Amino acid sequence: MKISEIGEFGFIDAIKDDTLFNPSSVVVGIGDDGAVYKTTDGMEQVSVIDTMVENSHFIIGKTGQWYDVGYKAVASNLSDIAAMGAIPTHLVLSTAIAPSMDVQDLTDLYKGIKDICSRYGVNILGGDTVTSKEGMVITVAAFGEIEEGKAILRSTAKAGDIVAVSHTIGDSGAGLETLLQGVDGYDELKKAHRFPEPQIELGRFLVKHHCHSLNDISDGLASESNEIAKASHVRICIDKERIPLSDGVRAWAKEAGKSPWSYAFNGGEDYELVFTMSPHDFEELQKEFPAVTAIGTVVEGKGDVLVVDDGNEHVLLPTGWTHF
Ligand code: ADP
Ligand code: MG
Repeated sequence: MKISEIGEFGFIDAIKDDTLFNPSSVVVGIGDDGAVYKTTDGMEQVSVIDTMVENSHFIIGKTGQWYDVGYKAVASNLSDIAAMGAIPTHLVLSTAIAPSMDVQDLTDLYKGIKDICSRYGVNILGGDTVTSKEGMVITVAAFGEIEEGKAILRSTAKAGDIVAVSHTIGDSGAGLETLLQGVDGYDELKKAHRFPEPQIELGRFLVKHHCHSLNDISDGLASESNEIAKASHVRICIDKERIPLSDGVRAWAKEAGKSPWSYAFNGGEDYELVFTMSPHDFEELQKEFPAVTAIGTVVEGKGDVLVVDDGNEHVLLPTGWTHF
């Protein structure tokens, strides 16, 4: 059945149930002109928004399925919430849908949205539905909260900090290549691309352990580390050999004839975190969250990034993943 056969209201009816995964703060959800929710005393509110466009951000049947699109549209927003150190609470979303789209595909899209919302206790409070002539556009706006004055910014890295990242970097970009080229195997890389895990839990540990600056890695380490260096007016020095790379990235890089580090620096959509904090606080963090690796240091400077490679220093330009 096509979406044009059930119409906008038939569609809203089909998706409006099972949308509240943490209902205690919700006064009015889907069904009225606006949603109403309570905020927590002593907490500041955080909002983020992200859009995905069919055939630009995803190609159905190639880079993933409709379920994945829904999952990822939410994951990228929750990653931005994590990158402030905040707890996600609610979201609203807008879907531009081609009339010829299958109702089952939309149901799958919403299953992806609902599964990740359920996992992180995030309420779906409402949205908007419009027609698109070509392909789908999905925009998600997410809200979260954080203790007053505790949001972790990009602009507060300090000389003497260490620079660290979570898990391994570059898997998603390498996974995207294996998907686009239709290569068998590399399941871990493909999973990293299709189902990135927003680092909410780590974000909360970073608040607890006095992290100085924080960014999520949506556009590659080159771009994200430059954003911190520039906003904080410091120099970031990264030791290339210390960047955690997975076996999968190393194997795929070899097969593709590329440098494995190119995926870490220039790949996109890892949704891991890059952050800076005092060496002592980093040791304390590692006791509670071991999957973090120190990759460099912050020194006085004017907003650039150096990579140390075999004893040689190179300036790392912010040439991460760009859309144009
Ligand atoms: P209005 O005309 O007042 O904007 P709509 O008819 O567009 O209201 O939407 C009715 C209800 O359904 C609202 O609560 C809205 O937030 C919700 N809604 C509409 N589209 C979506 C969507 N794509 N996903 C989730 N909720 C939606
Ligand atoms: Mg509307």
